[in-house]
Amino acid sequence: MSENVIKEAIAEQKMRCPKCKKPIQKYEKFMETIDAVRDGFNVIEVDSRASRVTLTCGNADCEWKERTEYWAEYID
Ligand SMILES: [Zn+2]
Repeated sequence: MSENVIKEAIAEQKMRCPKCKKPIQKYEKFMETIDAVRDGFNVIEVDSRASRVTLTCGNADCEWKERTEYWAEYID
């Protein structure tokens, strides 16, 4: 469900670009870091919050872009 958190934070302009302080406009390449541990037939999913995403500021004159697992830090 963490992709929805990112989606909502961007929609509500709560995700801030650390460079220009304006709301981040978009994200892409969302990936759950599936640290699934396969142990025989048992699959244990480890920490679904460890999702990696590429954030793009998208505001004029700002080139900020970052691929991060720590996107939650950019939410106000
Ligand atoms: Zn920016």
